[in-house]
Amino acid sequence: MKIVIIGGGPAGRTSAMEAAQLEAEVTLIEKKHIGGTCLHEGCMVVCGLNDVVRFHEDSKRFKEMGITSGESQIDYSKVTQGIKEVTGKIEHVLKYETRESGAEIVQGEAKIIGREVGSEEGDIGGIVEVDGVDYSYDKLIIATGSRPSIPPIPGAETALTYKDVLDFIEVPETLNIIGSGVIATEFAGIFSSLGSKVKVLCRNQFLSNIDPEIKNYALKNLLEGVEVIENVQVDEITDNGASTSNGPMDGVVFLATGMTPNSEIASKLVEIGPKREIIVNNHMKTSAPSIYSAGDVVGTVGNTPVARMEGMVAARNACGISATMDYSLIAQSITLYYPISFLVSQKSSKINSKEHEDLKVRIRGSGGPGSFWNVLDGSTGFTKMSADLETGNITGASSISPSSRTSMPYLAKMIKDGYKTSDFEDFIETHPSTDAIYKLLHFLAKYG
Ligand SMILES: Cc1cc2nc3c(=O)[nH]c(=O)nc-3n(C[C@H](O)[C@H](O)[C@H](O)COP(=O)(O)OP(=O)(O)OC[C@H]3O[C@@H](n4cnc5c(N)ncnc54)[C@H](O)[C@@H]3O)c2cc1C
Repeated sequence: MKIVIIGGGPAGRTSAMEAAQLEAEVTLIEKKHIGGTCLHEGCMVVCGLNDVVRFHEDSKRFKEMGITSGESQIDYSKVTQGIKEVTGKIEHVLKYETRESGAEIVQGEAKIIGREVGSEEGDIGGIVEVDGVDYSYDKLIIATGSRPSIPPIPGAETALTYKDVLDFIEVPETLNIIGSGVIATEFAGIFSSLGSKVKVLCRNQFLSNIDPEIKNYALKNLLEGVEVIENVQVDEITDNGASTSNGPMDGVVFLATGMTPNSEIASKLVEIGPKREIIVNNHMKTSAPSIYSAGDVVGTVGNTPVARMEGMVAARNACGISATMDYSLIAQSITLYYPISFLVSQKSSKINSKEHEDLKVRIRGSGGPGSFWNVLDGSTGFTKMSADLETGNITGASSISPSSRTSMPYLAKMIKDGYKTSDFEDFIETHPSTDAIYKLLHFLAKYG
C-alpha cells in the first residue's frame, strides 16, 4: 500500500508515523517546515513567549516581596531568536522520529496532478507532483492545515497576524488586536505584559464560548492591562491604525479573526464545505474514494491534539483498519499567565452550557507550585464545575490554575469512560497541588 501525505504538521506527521508503523510505504511531503503551524508559528511560539511573560510577571511580584532587587528587562529580538533556535532543534528531533518510523520525507510543494484507475488495491489511486517528480499513491491523506482568515475590511491585507510575531523587531508600543477568540486573547495577554498598550476589538462578544465567570476572572486578573471593546465595527485598516465605529484607534493592527483551511489543493477533487473546509466523515474519508484528510484543513476543532488524533484515524482507515473520530468531549486551553482550561462537548449541549439546572460549585485556587507567592495578593486562580445530582454525571468543568492544562484532559477521559461524582470520594491527590478540580469533586462526591 502506497500512502502519500501532504503536510508535515501535527496531523500529517502523525498520519505518516501511524501508516509507516502499519507497514505502508509512506511519503510525507512538506513545503516549509516539519512541525507545521504548531511548532513554528502557533502553540510553541505562544508557549515560549508565555514562559517569558510568567518570568517577567513574577519578577515584578518578587521585587515587591523582597525576593529580587529588580524587574527583568526584555530584549524582544533576543527572545524571538531563542524561540527560533528551540523550534529548530525540535524540528530536527521530529524529522528524526518521523524517518525512524519508516516514513520518507520529501521537501517541496505538492500538487495533485491526476488520478488513475487500477492501483494495487483495485481502488482509484493518483499522482502527486513535487518539483517535477511524480509520487503515485493508493491512498492520499491531505493535511495542509490552515492560514489566517483575512476579513473583507479595506486595508486588512496590510495588518499583521500571528505569522509576523517572531519578526517584530521590538514590542509594539500600541497594539489593536481585531478578534475575540483564543488567539486574540493569548497575544493580548503576552504583549500587554511585555509593555504594549493593547486593545482587543471584538465584532460581537469577547470569548463568547467560555463560562462568563471564568471569563470575568481572566479579564480582571490575567488581562488587567488589556482594554476589551465589544460590539465594535472596524471600517478600515491603514499603516497607522484602524478606523472603527468607536473612532480611530492608532497603532499596529493585528488580525486574529479566525482561520481559513488550506483546501485549494483538492478543491476539484473532493467536496468542500462553506468555510472552505474539506468535508470528511468520522473515518476522515473525503468524498473521493482514495482520499482522506485530517487536521485544520477539515475545519473541526482547530487544535493540535485533535489534528493528531484525526491524522491517526485517517492513517488507520487508509491502511484498511477501521477507526472512528470521537469529538464528544475535548479539553481545551487558553494560555495566559495561568492557563484557562475547559471542557467542550460536541455531543452534549450540557457541558459548559449556561442554561442547565445542574448544581454549580466554584472555588478559588489554592497555594502550590507556581501559585504559592500569589496567595499574598489572592491571584491564585478559579475553578468551577457542575454536576447532575440525580445521575452523578459531571456536566461541566472550567479551571484557571497552573495545573489545569494537565488535569482537564484526564478529567475528560474519566467522564467519557463513565466516572460519576461518587467515584472521586477516594481520590488521593498529590500535595501541594494547584488542582482545585479534585477539591470540588470531593465535595460533589460527599454532598452530591
Ligand atoms: C497562534 C496560534 C496558537 C496556537 N496554539 C495552540 C495551542 O496552544 N494548543 C493547540 O492544541 N493548538 C494550538 N494552535 C492550533 C494548532 O497550531 C493547529 O491546530 C495545528 O497546527 C494543526 O495541525 P495541522 O497538521 O492540521 O496543520 P499545520 O500545523 O498548519 O500543518 C500543515 C502543514 O502543511 C504544509 N503544507 C500546506 N500545503 C502544502 C503543500 N501543497 N505541499 C506541501 N506541504 C504543504 C504546511 O507548510 C504546514 O507545515 C495554535 C494556532 C495558532 C495559529
